[in-house]
Amino acid sequence: MTALDIRERADSHVPPPLPYPEEALQPVISAHTIGLHYGKHHKGYVETLNKLLTGTQYETLSLRALINATAGKPALATLFNNAAQAWNHTFYWRSLRPQGGAEPPAPLARRIAASFGSLDECKKALAAAATAQFGSGWAWLVLEGDDLKAVKTSDAQTPLTSGATPLLAIDVWEHAYYLDYQNRRADYVNAVLDKLINWEFASDNLG
Ligand code: FE
Repeated sequence: MTALDIRERADSHVPPPLPYPEEALQPVISAHTIGLHYGKHHKGYVETLNKLLTGTQYETLSLRALINATAGKPALATLFNNAAQAWNHTFYWRSLRPQGGAEPPAPLARRIAASFGSLDECKKALAAAATAQFGSGWAWLVLEGDDLKAVKTSDAQTPLTSGATPLLAIDVWEHAYYLDYQNRRADYVNAVLDKLINWEFASDNLG
């Protein structure tokens, strides 16, 4: 299984298990937040998705194929939103790890230096994308052509549909941080970048 190929179709979609215990990201993200975020929000998207898919022509598609088949089609927006949120969340859990942050692996570090100038500038660009997103959405590190970019998407939107390769995701919906940080989204994002971000996962996604 490649890093991006994070769900293949069986009988119904199932959220993959969290890659670490719920308390493993403390004190940056509490076990309470992770428990609700994974157990209620992520699982809720997947349960809704399975209900919406029952009896439709999309029932046998993989999650990624489903996202591509429904993107940009207003009549299929609910299906797209739940499919994309299912994929985005699985990608987010893997974008974090206990004792993350620190230095990216050398090949990724070289790409970061080429695109942003330095790791610090890359983290600033990701934080700026995360805080500039108005309302719910996501900040992403993506590979676009030969360049790394920090981008934001709103609601369930995902870079998968724009031809970019996602390397990392940071959830900036309020459910990701409000219990721990209230309205201080920037504090959550900076703490994630300094202490949890999984540069090894980003490096794997470079391919
Ligand atoms: Fe979320």
